[in-house]
Amino acid sequence: MDFDYTAEENAFREEVRKFISENLPPKKERDKNFLNTWLEKVRAKGWVGFSWPKEFGGSAGGLIEQTILREEMALAKAPPLGTSMMGLAWVGPGIMEYGTEEQKRKFIPDILDSKVTWCTGYSEPNHGSDLAAIQCKAELHGDNYVVNGQKIWTTGAPWSQWIILLTRTQFDVESKHDGITCLLVPMDAPGVEVRPIENMAGDKHFAEIFFTDVQVPVENRLGAEGDGWKVTVSALANERSSIGEVTQMFAKLENLKELVKVTYKQGKPAQEDPSVRRKVAQFEMKIAAMKYNGLRYLTKQIKGEPLTSETSVNKLHRASLEIEMDDFAVELTGQAGLQLRGGDAAVDGGSWSKSALNWPNVVIGGGTPNIQRNIIAERLLGMPKD
Ligand SMILES: Cc1cc2nc3c(=O)[nH]c(=O)nc-3n(C[C@H](O)[C@H](O)[C@H](O)COP(=O)(O)OP(=O)(O)OC[C@H]3O[C@@H](n4cnc5c(N)ncnc54)[C@H](O)[C@@H]3O)c2cc1C
Repeated sequence: MDFDYTAEENAFREEVRKFISENLPPKKERDKNFLNTWLEKVRAKGWVGFSWPKEFGGSAGGLIEQTILREEMALAKAPPLGTSMMGLAWVGPGIMEYGTEEQKRKFIPDILDSKVTWCTGYSEPNHGSDLAAIQCKAELHGDNYVVNGQKIWTTGAPWSQWIILLTRTQFDVESKHDGITCLLVPMDAPGVEVRPIENMAGDKHFAEIFFTDVQVPVENRLGAEGDGWKVTVSALANERSSIGEVTQMFAKLENLKELVKVTYKQGKPAQEDPSVRRKVAQFEMKIAAMKYNGLRYLTKQIKGEPLTSETSVNKLHRASLEIEMDDFAVELTGQAGLQLRGGDAAVDGGSWSKSALNWPNVVIGGGTPNIQRNIIAERLLGMPKD
């Protein structure tokens, strides 16, 4: 096993660093046009959809370079490379894999050019972990599906233009995994009602969505009718892989290392306290374990094999690690650590306490820890179900 980078890969890392140093001003110097300019520049560099095939507007870049790109962007705390995280992480790849030529032409360029934002409509009030039991109904009438039902916890729904929607087109099925169909639905279609939900950190990032007689043209179906589960399984593997990605954790660790330098414990910088040093070292080791596990996925992908259940391992690992790191930071900073964004005494702009309250994002979003454990036990370790 060779962990060293080639000369080309190291040169690519230097290129990314140079670009960042030339194009990413400190936060307080950024004006209101900064984000648009940034998005145009990274797109012009070919770094959005970096590993996507050229025929779809990507750069056909190597997966190792893509990892380098993500690492450097995360460490520099750069803005995202596109406005639609879900579009880039799983909707776009899903359309490239299962979409018609017309769908690819229609949807892919807008994702790459940050012209649209996508959200993901899987969960329903009674069907989250048991996703295959969804009830949101789509009936084919002529050239349109007519959709009736409800989704919940839909991240980004309040500002998204499109939703990838899992519906049931057949109810009398032998297996609940059959009869599911995936539709691509504009959020401004008549009959779509979005009701934002506030989370405990005070953000309204997700929403309930009600569908009443929503007409969806049949050409907006992704994959064949009844094949929705297949489309979803590959999208979920991509979702878990992006949640389980280690680059964000390295950036978080760097923040924590800064925090222990400037926070005082019994009159001395906290980093001089052996128990604090031990804890930070433990986090670093756990993140390194995540990194090397992630490299296994990467090796599989480089060999052309699709990612499946293995992405659950890092998803599960990250969930507990993020909570531990946030709790540690909040405890270390005492009362100030409890202050949310906006408070005068808030540490790092309140980001630690905000992150501590946002734990459901990485813990429950993309599937709960118990569900990841089931997947690991049954599909990776081959353990019996009962
Ligand atoms: C921040 C956040 C963002 C989200 N974003 C989206 C989104 O964009 N789109 C979307 O569709 N959904 C989204 N979700 C929903 C998320 O996917 C579901 O909440 C999740 O799958 C769990 O489903 P549930 O809430 O119905 O809980 P339940 O499935 O009712 O689970 C409740 C508890 O029972 C346990 N449990 C359930 N079944 C089993 C089992 N078979 N074995 C062992 N334990 C089990 C679970 O682990 C959990 O502890 C989001 C959720 C959160 C918190």
